[in-house]
Amino acid sequence: MLRDLHSHTIASDGDLTVSELLQLASERGVQELAITDHDSVASLADAVSKAGKLELKLIPGVEISAAVGKKKQDSVHIVGLQIDHQHAGLNSFLNNIQKKRHERALQMAEKLEVAGIKGAQPDVEYMLDSQPMVCRTHLAQYLLEREEVKTFGAAFKHYLAKGGKAYVKDDWFDIEDAVAMIRQAGGIPVLAHPTRYGMGSNKLKQLIQQFKNVGGQGIEVCYPNIHPGQKNLLADWSVQFNLLASQGSDFHSPSKPWALLGKFAPLPEQVTPVWESPAWTTSD
Ligand code: AMP
Ligand code: MN
Ligand code: MN
Ligand code: MN
Repeated sequence: MLRDLHSHTIASDGDLTVSELLQLASERGVQELAITDHDSVASLADAVSKAGKLELKLIPGVEISAAVGKKKQDSVHIVGLQIDHQHAGLNSFLNNIQKKRHERALQMAEKLEVAGIKGAQPDVEYMLDSQPMVCRTHLAQYLLEREEVKTFGAAFKHYLAKGGKAYVKDDWFDIEDAVAMIRQAGGIPVLAHPTRYGMGSNKLKQLIQQFKNVGGQGIEVCYPNIHPGQKNLLADWSVQFNLLASQGSDFHSPSKPWALLGKFAPLPEQVTPVWESPAWTTSD
């Protein structure tokens, strides 16, 4: 059974609608798909209803941005799998994050304008009015289309990432709040793509320990572009910390060929896959 437990739609920074994503999942032979938009459950009602008509099991999910560290200096992503997407507390929590995102987008636009990107403020205001969410990914795309930068990565390096001209420090809720919220909404909290936070292995191990201490239940072990050595290390930590192992492409768009839906290595044998947990629903 092919399972992809991490993907995005236009509700956050994915390029596909729910229908397009489900269609692609069917074509790729994905039989179980989690939709995990950044800080949003807006796609899930539609996804649950449409997946029912296809031979596809839809896992309602979310990917919550959260802060770690004494000064909240790092930000990490917590995937919640099998959440109740109608949970009132979760919806209000996510609405709060979306307000923070809205404010951050306006501040980044102001900084872009100051950095010489003329018209960035009205353009970002238009984006905020016309699409569900404005992520840094959208701003990177905007800078690329205006030919202010040559690559997507350069947009982050020069403008959007820490040290960039339009960087605005994020203000996410703490990791323990994100984990608690996911659990209150009936979900399984999974630390997303642990090797993508630019942490050395000691710091990363501490993060995983902290995540476990605050009630985290799983970590992603298999995802695109992870080195085999890193994957084995995550698998070992998954066993050591008694965390379930998850897998997913973090699919955003067919135009991002480094993360194709359903494409990543299988989980190593020593781990317990999240779908083998007693908490994993078998009915759909
Ligand atoms: P946001 O959640 O709005 O802060 O946007 C974060 C998203 O931007 C992440 O999910 C990544 O997909 C993407 N991202 C962050 N840093 C980089 C980078 N250096 N290069 C390319 N994409 C990045
Ligand atoms: Mn994204
Ligand atoms: Mn992420
Ligand atoms: Mn993601």
